Amino acid sequence: MLDGEIPLSAPDLSELECGLVQEVLRSGRLSNGPMIERFERLVSAHTGVRHAVGVSSGTAGLHLVLLAMGIGPGDEVITTPFSFIASSNAILYVGARPVFVDIEPKSLNMDPGYVERAITPKTKAILAVEAFGNPSHMDRYAAIAQRHELLLIEDSCEALGTTHCGRACGAFGRAGVFGFYPNKQITTGEGGMIVTDDTRLADLCRSMRNQGRAVGMPTVKPTAESPATSRAALGAWLHHERLGYNYRMSEIAAAIGVGQMRRLADIIERRQAVAQMYIDRLLDHDQIILPTIAPDSTMSWFVFVVRLVTGWTGEERNRIIAELRAHQIGAGDYFPCIHLQPFYRARFGYHPGDFPIAESVSQRTLALPFSSRTTEREVDLVCQTLSVLLNKEGITRG
Ligand SMILES: *Cc1c(COP(=O)(O)O)cnc(C)c1O
Repeated sequence: MLDGEIPLSAPDLSELECGLVQEVLRSGRLSNGPMIERFERLVSAHTGVRHAVGVSSGTAGLHLVLLAMGIGPGDEVITTPFSFIASSNAILYVGARPVFVDIEPKSLNMDPGYVERAITPKTKAILAVEAFGNPSHMDRYAAIAQRHELLLIEDSCEALGTTHCGRACGAFGRAGVFGFYPNKQITTGEGGMIVTDDTRLADLCRSMRNQGRAVGMPTVKPTAESPATSRAALGAWLHHERLGYNYRMSEIAAAIGVGQMRRLADIIERRQAVAQMYIDRLLDHDQIILPTIAPDSTMSWFVFVVRLVTGWTGEERNRIIAELRAHQIGAGDYFPCIHLQPFYRARFGYHPGDFPIAESVSQRTLALPFSSRTTEREVDLVCQTLSVLLNKEGITRG
């Protein structure tokens, strides 16, 4: 038997990241230093996009992008109800209205037809999410945005390292955002990154992440050790050109990110191998629908989420999750629909039935233990246990 729990997710950290963090600690420069610039260069090179702006979280990145685009009260942003709540909350932060459209059941991303039909004179942007990292339709959303002169924001927090039609995710919109929470493909503990080809947008985000300070000004708080620059630096440090935030990423976080980016290809290869192990074992299961990867896409695999076939209820699915957990197997119900979260219902009057495909899918999803560290033995145990539980539950259902 295996010892302990099989975790739902786990970061993949190595001696490389440890060494880089030590480098930062020894340097004494813990913020606004060279490490964030290194991390930003690695992400912009990987994505093929001119600018990358490191921030304190993916959520902070989405907030800055919406602010920098000037989206605010009275504006509508078309987005998906089938996502982690941050993608839609960022729209609320700037006082705009999220306009949800239902998903397409294969990719679990917004149905492009519904996106087009939801456009009104108030629509300013489309905020697209790669659900579980699936990049399908990103090219379609980009075409719709172009045709209707809308901004496309790509919430790629689940899609670093994924490609669609030969292009890296994050690069489809006017701006893309990555997230580096410990359950993502790569982590910095907490952190995020904005990517864009738009220099004006990048500069605005750089300023707003740093309390509205001018970009290109000395950013190090002057100290007694650097008296030569202290007068000029002090002027810049306490000069604020616009309303800003403290959404900076620390040098320690950036150091972890540099190590993770250097290992990205290996991490993705490993994640693809683990996903394939699950696919091989679950392919023939008649109660399970596997994730679909379109032939024009490559997946870096944020999570491994299967779906129970039509007929299974949310309650039955939740019992399976509880039983997996009782067997020391991590499992999750990614994602409950955003429009049915209590404060969205209270504020906008949403009801069950408003987005039937998203609701039907979200009742039947099952996230299985998945990381670059998941072993073949663990996958075997998870799949065997899941099969037994599905059979048992199937019998009690009649
Ligand atoms: C993880 C995630 C985010 C951002 O998460 P943070 O924890 O703020 O870094 C945003 N959108 C989606 C779809 C995500 O999965």
